[in-house]
Amino acid sequence: MIDTIKVTIWNEYRHEIKNEAVRKLYPDGMHKVIADFLGASEDIQTCTATLDEPEHGLTEDVLNNTDVLIWWGHIAHNEVDEKIVDRVQQRILAGMGLIVLHSGHFAKIFKRMLGTNCSLRWREIAEKERLWNLEPGHPITDGIGDYIELPNTEMYGERFDIPTPDKLIFVSWFEGGEVFRSGCCWERGHGRIFYFRPGHETYPIFYNEEIRKVITNAVRWAKPRVNQGTEKGHHIVDPIENITEKHVDFGSTGVEQT
Ligand code: ZN
Repeated sequence: MIDTIKVTIWNEYRHEIKNEAVRKLYPDGMHKVIADFLGASEDIQTCTATLDEPEHGLTEDVLNNTDVLIWWGHIAHNEVDEKIVDRVQQRILAGMGLIVLHSGHFAKIFKRMLGTNCSLRWREIAEKERLWNLEPGHPITDGIGDYIELPNTEMYGERFDIPTPDKLIFVSWFEGGEVFRSGCCWERGHGRIFYFRPGHETYPIFYNEEIRKVITNAVRWAKPRVNQGTEKGHHIVDPIENITEKHVDFGSTGVEQT
């Protein structure tokens, strides 16, 4: 029997509605295209959620049934309710995986988990990007060669204001000369977090087979290994050994008085 990984793909879903070029590429939204390619793997079960649904589609019930949450946002980060951010944060600390794509670098949940500004430099002139595979033995790069080449991308450049990743998987080179930490792994609480840079809405990034492979691999890497809320770990405990409480007087000199 296959252990199914339950993935929720969250998309802001605004560009596809407002911008015709984006709608042409992703008529039913980027979340639909991502859900379709992930759902083609028999070990992955998908559902989607968007900003304008009640509770942004991330109810307690949905999150409790999510092993890995994928996040794409850009122009409406500020519209995400802090209460939902709190809820997602607690699920990650308890073991849920989080994959943040592209402009999700400025999402409230990403900044909350990492604690830094997550700022960067950018330019949008459809230049070439080469993502160098630094960790060919890592589960996230399974099936990926020395590099992935994308002919048309938005450039993201350093400095990317993130905490040093626990593991850096990809570094991008751009035609214009910049470099960028494009594939980064962290752990927070019991949860695994992966940031993956590609995914600008006006380029067909999520149709690229290698990009799909990396995201699929990342889902398998980020799946929970435990499901344990941090609040469970915070309470007074009795000693394991049979010991009695001591009453020690340290006087006024810090030396134990006998
Ligand atoms: Zn972009």
